[in-house]
Amino acid sequence: MKTDQLVACHDCGSLYHWRPLAACERASCHRCQHELYRWHKGSPARQAEVLAALTLGAVFVFLLAQWFPIVTLEMGGMLSGATLYQAVAVLWGAGDQVIAALVFFCAIIFPGIELGSLFYVALGLTRGMRVPGFNLVLRTVQGARHWAMTEVLMIGILITVIKMTSLARVEPHPALFAFGVLTILCALVMRYEPKALWALADRLAPLRKSDPARQTTTIPEADSVLVSCSACGLVNHTCPSRDGTDRCARCSAALHRRIPHSVGWTWTMLLAATLLYIPANMLPVMYTRSIGGTEGDTIMSGVVLFWNTGSKGLAIIIFIASIVVPVSKLAALAWLNATAQARSRTAPMARTRAYRAIEFVGRWSMLDIFVVALTVALVRFDALVVITAGPGAIAFGCVVIVTMVASHQFDPRLIWDPIESNGEPHV
Ligand SMILES: [Zn+2]
Ligand SMILES: [Zn+2]
Repeated sequence: MKTDQLVACHDCGSLYHWRPLAACERASCHRCQHELYRWHKGSPARQAEVLAALTLGAVFVFLLAQWFPIVTLEMGGMLSGATLYQAVAVLWGAGDQVIAALVFFCAIIFPGIELGSLFYVALGLTRGMRVPGFNLVLRTVQGARHWAMTEVLMIGILITVIKMTSLARVEPHPALFAFGVLTILCALVMRYEPKALWALADRLAPLRKSDPARQTTTIPEADSVLVSCSACGLVNHTCPSRDGTDRCARCSAALHRRIPHSVGWTWTMLLAATLLYIPANMLPVMYTRSIGGTEGDTIMSGVVLFWNTGSKGLAIIIFIASIVVPVSKLAALAWLNATAQARSRTAPMARTRAYRAIEFVGRWSMLDIFVVALTVALVRFDALVVITAGPGAIAFGCVVIVTMVASHQFDPRLIWDPIESNGEPHV
């Protein structure tokens, strides 16, 4: 069987024959309703041009957003303002290296890598070629996208600005608007999945037939199984005994039938996140030093403070992002992992939906870290008030990262494995 025309569902592993789509149509999995691939406007060459233009615009706006200050605060005749990078430097200098590193990587480095790499790949595709390092660059985009949090940062900036208006006069600067535009451009860029770009490259710059790896896709061994590549999505023939040693015929990534040691690693990460969650809630996330003395705020006391000072909306947002989301995420992931380990056959659809919700909301827990980071960087009126991050914020940042690793490590196909499928591709 030729595997070039097969598409595997990411969430349940079902196989489908690829078919051309009508305008605005999306191909979905019949079993778990996961989107398999979507229609893109225009010919492949046109799609590459649109992506190149979009990413070029996004890179330009990204540089503007990083270059200019976000806001300036004025309090008692003193001014305080910072670019995002200066905010990171202030945090680092104040001894909050963990928070500084989280902001630096999630708000500057990973978004920069994602946009720059996509532009590089798209530029090559507009010329009908795979740029040098094509596979590695696209795999980098896949990884960086998971950790790039421009949209979370944008909401973090808005919350910080609203919070600051009660404390000082706030003047917006170009980077505030640039981050707004960047968030929209990133949402448009995100429509182009790296897997879709590998497929696009197959049409614009096909691999040569003489490529030795290429031929293995059409010469199956007697006991071979079909395994989809976790990087590019190509369905390959491989032998169960060679799990992890065979390489994908298109992108050379190691082929695994399921994520190796998924259940064990998920348990380990979940345990670490649960332990870290205790200091994250017990210890102060912020210290406010003013003429009246130094005061520490935990996540919960911050929520209560917002509520009591009339900012009920902000109190609810912080409460959901910092308490409801992390706790439900840990509980839901433990449920998914336990039922997958027990090869449960109950409610696979509900469990798949829970998995998708965890993947979607996980990153939003970083909101509190961004708010703390920006507040610390901006409120530096030495004689009047200085805010610094507390150990609770470091523990909370680690909880968010470790839980994201845990949900990334969980293989959703384990939910569907105990449920019979005839194993034949659907037409
Ligand atoms: Zn599916
Ligand atoms: Zn591949």
